Amino acid sequence: MQTQKRPARVYCSSLKPFEYFAPGSVSEALGILARFKGKARLVAGGTGLVVEMRARERAPEALVSLRCVKELGHAPALKGARIVISPTTTLSRVAASELLREKAPLLVAAALSIGTCQVRNRATIGGSVCRGRGRPPDIAPALIALGAALRVKDRRGERLVPAGDFFGDAGDPVRRGEAMIVQLQLAPQEEDERSCFRKQTACPGTDRGVASVAVRATLSRGVIARATVAAGGTSFTPARMKRAGETIEGSRGEMETLFKAAEVLADEVCAAGATRPAAGLARELLAACFIRAVKEVLA
Ligand SMILES: Cc1cc2nc3c(=O)[nH]c(=O)nc-3n(C[C@H](O)[C@H](O)[C@H](O)COP(=O)(O)OP(=O)(O)OC[C@H]3O[C@@H](n4cnc5c(N)ncnc54)[C@H](O)[C@@H]3O)c2cc1C
Repeated sequence: MQTQKRPARVYCSSLKPFEYFAPGSVSEALGILARFKGKARLVAGGTGLVVEMRARERAPEALVSLRCVKELGHAPALKGARIVISPTTTLSRVAASELLREKAPLLVAAALSIGTCQVRNRATIGGSVCRGRGRPPDIAPALIALGAALRVKDRRGERLVPAGDFFGDAGDPVRRGEAMIVQLQLAPQEEDERSCFRKQTACPGTDRGVASVAVRATLSRGVIARATVAAGGTSFTPARMKRAGETIEGSRGEMETLFKAAEVLADEVCAAGATRPAAGLARELLAACFIRAVKEVLA
């Protein structure tokens, strides 16, 4: 299969002029988005959006900062059977949260795989989720494996969107600047579950995941009783890989089963949707991430 090369980005030192707003509430922020009819963008940490603006890939007429929105300022917390996270939580805070380290280690591992410490100190989990369709976020497989759902709000009301759907069409209104994420919800990892997140970059020194895999499994005497597998990467739409999970259920991680499941996974990822033509290398890296993740879950 042919690889399609992304054109090199040319960065401009100056940004096109825009209006700047710092609303104090979600409803005020939504009012501004509605007024600009898709020509305004929310800005959280700015590490994604400002880079895109400097590359002239985006030129919003207005930026709506989430920094002063009080409803969004809470720390990750357990609410009933779900963990709730504010979208403005920085990736550093995700990684430092005791609750998430204990109950959602997959998310912590995925957050720590993104950028440098300086980037993670600014970049938020909400901003990460909203990366464009052509640039799927590395955090996506972890969220999908954790059964995450996103509370999405616009001026007409709000709805809960499963993470797996959000990275497909269901997230488009948010990416078009017509709605916002006001909360992320996750299913905490159970006592008898183990999990592992693995990401493979193209070469040392870069951090963009060509392939990333999250595996969550319930073990019973060294046998995988139940498995949830999710995958993504630069060429693939992140999604849950149901058949790959089913293939490893009932196994102790025998190599024959893992190679078979890795093949199933690669086919399933391509069927879920390629954002760009998937090179053979991406398939191989995906298989390597998957096998390592399962081995680690069983270790
Ligand atoms: C040096 C560098 C390295 C990076 N490495 C990686 C990497 O390895 N893997 C990876 O996945 N990413 C990487 N990124 C991208 C990074 O993940 C994202 O830029 C970051 O997580 C976005 O968070 P932010 O808060 O800065 O978002 P912003 O830049 O503020 O916003 C990004 C987008 O999300 C929208 N948005 C923000 N919050 C909300 C909300 N609550 N509701 C609706 N829309 C919202 C904005 O309108 C914008 O369109 C890197 C970026 C840099 C600069």
